[in-house]
Amino acid sequence: MILKVLVLNSGSSSIKYQLFDMNDLAVLAAGMIERIGEAMGHIKHRVMAAGDRAGETISRAVPVVDHRRGFELLGQILAETGAISTTDDLAGIGHRVVHGGETFREPVIITAEVVETIRKLSPLAPLHNPANLTGIEVAMAYAPAVRQVAVFDTAFHQTMPEHAFLYALPRTLYEKLHVRRYGFHGTSHYFVAKEAAAHLERPLAEMNLITLHLGNGASMAAIRGGRCVDTSMGMTPLEGLIMGTRCGDVDPAIIFYLARETGMGLRELDILLNQESGLKGICGVNDMRVVAERAGQGDSQAGLALDMFCYRIKKYLGAYLAVLGRVDALVFTGGIGENAAIVREKVCAGLEGLGIDLDPGKNLLATQGPRELQRDGRKMKIMVIPTNEELEIARQTVAVLTSRAAANRK
Ligand code: ADP
Repeated sequence: MILKVLVLNSGSSSIKYQLFDMNDLAVLAAGMIERIGEAMGHIKHRVMAAGDRAGETISRAVPVVDHRRGFELLGQILAETGAISTTDDLAGIGHRVVHGGETFREPVIITAEVVETIRKLSPLAPLHNPANLTGIEVAMAYAPAVRQVAVFDTAFHQTMPEHAFLYALPRTLYEKLHVRRYGFHGTSHYFVAKEAAAHLERPLAEMNLITLHLGNGASMAAIRGGRCVDTSMGMTPLEGLIMGTRCGDVDPAIIFYLARETGMGLRELDILLNQESGLKGICGVNDMRVVAERAGQGDSQAGLALDMFCYRIKKYLGAYLAVLGRVDALVFTGGIGENAAIVREKVCAGLEGLGIDLDPGKNLLATQGPRELQRDGRKMKIMVIPTNEELEIARQTVAVLTSRAAANRK
């Protein structure tokens, strides 16, 4: 019997999942249960092609009242398609958990104590941690004998030094209320950093990298000797780069001004900055494909949104070059970083004097997979590495489950 690992990303109204073969980490099935809690939900399940068996996609509209029901349906569809017969086929379940605070610097086997700690960290990520926890609790009820592992989005950034993670606020806010920079997308930054090192055939521990995760949410990380020393997202994912709908860095006093002038309340301000700003706020759409297309057709607002997006990245790039002193590679990833050549071009434009020398021809090649885009002979690499957070969670889950410590605890 082949043991399998199930990776779960449980959101407030969705469960995304991938099933891996534990031995070679090949994806066996993947899917998403959406619109949980609405009148009609939806399941999309993909069985991967293997050997002489063709892949298939199953798409079903079905009410999913809550996460518990979602999990039952997931179990059914996995059994029906032959992916697993019973939960005994699972060696483990890996959960993406957004916020690990300062407690979790590494992935952990989930115990009752871990569940409680994740719950206590919920005020730091009120939209995410409770949903992640629901997924954990439902999975534990569904497969009580299967060991479960939590992999945290914040963990990779826990190596930041104090001078990078503290805000210039009274220290008591850090000590009593945990106000500090945590950073997010850590699993992705770590994954692409490792992949970049593997591609360049150099030990990660000797490499200085700037990783750019540019998706709907966007963040950058400065990595020295394989460890994160700074990142652009802060106490929450709102800080830093301009994103699809988030403003990134703004003068915090704008918030007081808006409250005074318009009478906006906390909730409205939260929605304004997190959901109505960024690319959407500047030009009306948050999807970079549409922004870039409109910019190409001469739409001035879309052009401005694209320019502002890239200018903000360039400022962080300059900052992180200064932080690191020596940089071996820039690594672009995420939907935009991997696919939007125009963004890479604008970010790198004019930086030849700093050693960043993008080859326009290589940049435009729509090749898949890891690739290098710097001009021939240049020392500083400019790379595109497709991210794969689910694979990284599967790897970390297997690593935790097979470590000696885990075996002892079993
Ligand atoms: P998420 O943060 O939701 O995981 P993704 O990493 O999938 O997001 O990135 C989504 C973003 O990537 C969207 O803005 C989308 O427009 C952009 N994107 C995807 N493909 C392309 C492309 N070919 N050209 C430009 N942008 C793209």
